[in-house]
Formats: sequence, C-alpha cells, structure tokens
Amino acid sequence: MPRTTILVMIDGLDPEYLAACPAPNLRRFAAEGFHVSGAGMMPSVTNVNNTSMVTGHYPAQHGIVSNYWLDREAGIEQYVESGEFICADTIFAQCQRSGGRSLLAASKDKLRRLLGTDTDLAFSAEQPTPEAVAAAGEPPHVYSLEVNGWTIEAARAALQAAHYDLAFIATTDYAMHAYGPQHPESARHLAILDAALGRLAADVPDAQLLITADHGMSDKRRMLHLPEILARKGIAAQAVPIIKDQYVVHHSNLGGCIYVHLEDPAAADDAIGVLRETDGVEEALPRHQAARRFSLMGERIGDILVTGAADVVFGDPAEVALPPGLRSHGSAHEMGVPIIGYGGDFGGFEFRENRDLGRYVSQRVLN
Ligand SMILES: [Zn+2]
Repeated sequence: MPRTTILVMIDGLDPEYLAACPAPNLRRFAAEGFHVSGAGMMPSVTNVNNTSMVTGHYPAQHGIVSNYWLDREAGIEQYVESGEFICADTIFAQCQRSGGRSLLAASKDKLRRLLGTDTDLAFSAEQPTPEAVAAAGEPPHVYSLEVNGWTIEAARAALQAAHYDLAFIATTDYAMHAYGPQHPESARHLAILDAALGRLAADVPDAQLLITADHGMSDKRRMLHLPEILARKGIAAQAVPIIKDQYVVHHSNLGGCIYVHLEDPAAADDAIGVLRETDGVEEALPRHQAARRFSLMGERIGDILVTGAADVVFGDPAEVALPPGLRSHGSAHEMGVPIIGYGGDFGGFEFRENRDLGRYVSQRVLN
C-alpha cells in the first residue's frame, strides 16, 4: 500500500471539461491507472458531495443535504459550514484513530470549516498558514483561475515537508461557473490544474491519487420562482435554496434544485400537483419519497424537493435577476463526474460514485 493517499476533489469538473481541454497529466493518470464515468450525490451541490467523499456515505447517513438550510425546529436559516452538522465518521477521524496523520487543503474556506475537524493540518487559500504562504506564495484571489493551482502547490509543499497518510485537496468551481468547456479560459484553468497535479504526483513519493468532482455544470437559461406559482393557487410556501453559500459571485445563489417548505404541510399533495404541472420542473417529490430516492436525511429537507430541467434554476426575481450566461448546478443533470485513480492497487474495488473515494480509504487504506 502506498504511504500517502491523496484525494483530489476538483470542484465542478463536469466530464465535458476533460473531453474539451488538454490535460496531459490527467490523461496519463487515467491511462496508467483507471478512469470511469461516475455519479455524484443529489442535490448536486458542493457540501453534500464533499461530505459524502470524506465519509464514504450517502447524505441519509452523514446528514449534509444542502449548502444552506432552514432549521424549522429552531426557526432559523443558516449556512451549513460546520463539522457539527456531520452525523457520520469522517476518514480524518478514522485516520487519527489509526494513529495516522491527515491534511486538508481547500481553495474555499467554507470547506475547511465544514470538513477540517480531526485533521492534523487544514488550511485554505482564504485562510492560509504562514508555512503555506512561504512555500507557495500569497494565495491568488478566490475568484481567480489561479487559486486552484495555489491550493494544489501548497498541499504538495506540505506533503513534502512532513509525512501525511491521507490528504484531501479541494478546489473551487469559480472557473466552471464562469466559463463553459469550449472557452479558452477553461483550457487555461485546466492547464493550471493539470500542471499542478503533475508536480504533485511526481514530487510526493509513493503516493496514490484518486481524483473526482463533486458535481458537473450546465448552462442555465430559465428561472422559476416557485412560491409565486404556488401562491397563485392559494398555497403559501417558502423556497430554501440548496446551493446558497457565501460565494455569490459563482452562481447568484441560483441552483437547479430547491426545498419547498409549506406553511400548511397538509397542502403537500395540492402543491405537488401544481409543481408537476409547471413547465421547467422535472420532479416534485414529497419529503419521504425524496429521502428514499436520493438517500437524504428526511428531517433536514423541505416538505417537497423540486428538481429542474437542465436549463432551469430556482430563484426570486425580487432578489436576483437571472444573469446572462449563467452556469450552475444542483439538479440531476449535474450528477455525472469523472473518477480517476493513479499510483495505487485499485483492483477489485468498484468506483461508481464519488463517495467511493471515502469508502476506499475506509475499507482499503485505514483498515
Ligand atoms: Zn462544488
């Protein structure tokens, strides 16, 4: 077994980017190791999928079902940015119990805050350590194409400076929200990532790499405001955006999946009838069905889970105008992710979902 296992989560790496952009190192990893078309978790947003990767579990077990949630019991809305919300054991905690050391390097600080518990070293490009700055320079802005290169370089430096048994590197999807696969800036972003990953593989001796994404990315051209549609039929409802986080420049908090909370839960059947008739709504599922279908923790989701057609996002025009050229995620159309493994003995282990990276670490590395 290699001495260091490195999981790389390339945020928003839709398979289309790999198909369209030159990425010689990723192609070499795939050719010498393996490459499969995998699936992510629903809702296809960052926190849900990253938590599945570091626990190996579905959201029904780990409890992270959105980036943002309405806690109906407490009557408050809040960002899901703390490890306290995670109900399952992480690979970092398992690593610690087995006497190993782990590292988390993220572009976005929200992932350090959510996942960093029980790591031996955790930093982000927004909250770097002095050592990371000394090794990789001042981090570029979190809304830049260069920030992900910094995060991988800083992780490489940390892995060269001290031994870690496990590392989790998480980039940000600013570039994918901003540019489609055919845009020259996407080729430049992929080249930055690819070069940094090539150096990582070359310079960390005896490492195995597993690379995947949390979700894909689609062009979004239509916006639906579901509370207004329901209000026209006399149903009072609140829509809580699953994608919402503090990186508004990325997506204006507009995503392809939303939790609807009804003022009167007894109106659920009527509301679902209205939503299913609405053009652009792909699925409207009552809580228990949504929880079963997508393996979600039922008590943390809305009365109704609504998913959009490929080009649809959910939002309130009183709060936000649909930006021209919006690219976003959250729906079932952004669940496809690549899974690439390199440098390890992956024989006999089936990688089908991004959460399998965590499962592999639990079952094969730390066991
Ligand atoms: Zn993401």
